[in-house]
Amino acid sequence: MTRPRTENYYTARGFSIYYIANAVFNVASTPSNYIRGIEELLGDMRTLTLMRPFAKYTNLHNFIYDISIEILTEEIGQEDGELHFIRQFLSVFNVDHSRKSLEDEEEFWHFVSESDRFYEAIEELADEVFHILFNDVGFLQKFNRLCADYVRLSGFGEEHRTKLGALKRVRIPMWARRAIFHRDKGECRACKRSLTSLINNFETERYDHIVPLARFGTNDVTNLQLLCERCNLEKSSTELPVSPLYLRAIRP
Ligand SMILES: [Zn+2]
Repeated sequence: MTRPRTENYYTARGFSIYYIANAVFNVASTPSNYIRGIEELLGDMRTLTLMRPFAKYTNLHNFIYDISIEILTEEIGQEDGELHFIRQFLSVFNVDHSRKSLEDEEEFWHFVSESDRFYEAIEELADEVFHILFNDVGFLQKFNRLCADYVRLSGFGEEHRTKLGALKRVRIPMWARRAIFHRDKGECRACKRSLTSLINNFETERYDHIVPLARFGTNDVTNLQLLCERCNLEKSSTELPVSPLYLRAIRP
């Protein structure tokens, strides 16, 4: 049996994960406070990345990954940097490092360039943060509105767009449908009707774009939710207030 490296394994690991989750949540919820940072994360050529249809490394993965690097390295090389967060991350995510590697910026980036584990560990961290945020559809709506703003304003990506500038509708791949069906526990997000009897009867229409394509929403799995046919028809290209609640795994 592998023993955790610290007795407070979940506290320490959870600290890194929830710290980043909070930061990502805040950036997507109050983008006006982070305009320059967001421009770097989503602007220009990166908007092209947002437009790719259904990449398994989703728009949200990229967003979390970039914010994680930003946060983890912000204290490096600062005079009064306590380096508490980066130390905790390196230790909990098993990234071998020496004391010297955190001494200054040059040492740090040298260490990173030689480390096989550093970026892999950030990917692991980002994936765990994704797991938390992917379940919060209220958050996903905010995040996808932000992405939609960049799609709307960007001059890139003609090949992905309709004449009106919105992204073209594409077939939703099976892996994405499965992910949404299981996340939403086979229930319509709006009326809670169970769709489990239809499990072998997938229909594209039921996988609804939270931010509609007509409003520059993206073809990303994070922009989908499960709706029944009736709710989906009523919604058409408007935006419903989504249920922000985590769905119960077990019904009383
Ligand atoms: Zn419904």
